[in-house]
Amino acid sequence: MSYRPPSAAPGSSSATSQPQAMTDLVRLLSRLPGLGPRSARRAVLHLLKNQDSLMHPLMTALDQVAATVSKCERCGALDETSPCQICTAPNRDHSRICVVRDMGDLWALERAGAHKGGYHVLGGLLSALDGIGPDKLFIEPLLQRVSDVEEVILALPASVEGQTTAHYLGDRLRAAGVATITRLAYGAPVGGDLEFLDDGTLAIALKSRQAV
Ligand SMILES: [Zn+2]
Repeated sequence: MSYRPPSAAPGSSSATSQPQAMTDLVRLLSRLPGLGPRSARRAVLHLLKNQDSLMHPLMTALDQVAATVSKCERCGALDETSPCQICTAPNRDHSRICVVRDMGDLWALERAGAHKGGYHVLGGLLSALDGIGPDKLFIEPLLQRVSDVEEVILALPASVEGQTTAHYLGDRLRAAGVATITRLAYGAPVGGDLEFLDDGTLAIALKSRQAV
């Protein structure tokens, strides 16, 4: 007679089941952009193998970021203060606002160094397919802050969603009385993400921007 462990239900394979806490962590990690279930499982195993050098510092870092970083009430950028460092910088030209999709694009433009004005971070793009309407984006705060602004630069991706969003914002900003509304000139591939453009291309796209 063969021995069967008391916990094993017939047909189940308890020897290969993973702890529930790990399953939960893998499921959470696999919701991150670029991580599927397989790479999430590898990440969890790597963390468990390196608890002192990686897992515990990561836990502390996550706690710190969650406690200190939040959205700027004015421009939507992520920072440790609200209003953020960009909104309060005395050496920037706050009469020019560059509208971007997300923080990745803001950082890309900052790296390119071609824009010395303010920013406005939408938090995404309009997409009928994904059910993202104007109310889901940081658009109303933009319309509220443009009364004394000289120029709004729509630095949005050359994708369908990016151009739909630029068209919508162009109409709303004109109605709000903004005199100059421009968009990036693209020496870049259509559909390309700003984040992945090299700094030189991005700087030229900004310098040769066109009126909307
Ligand atoms: Zn801000």
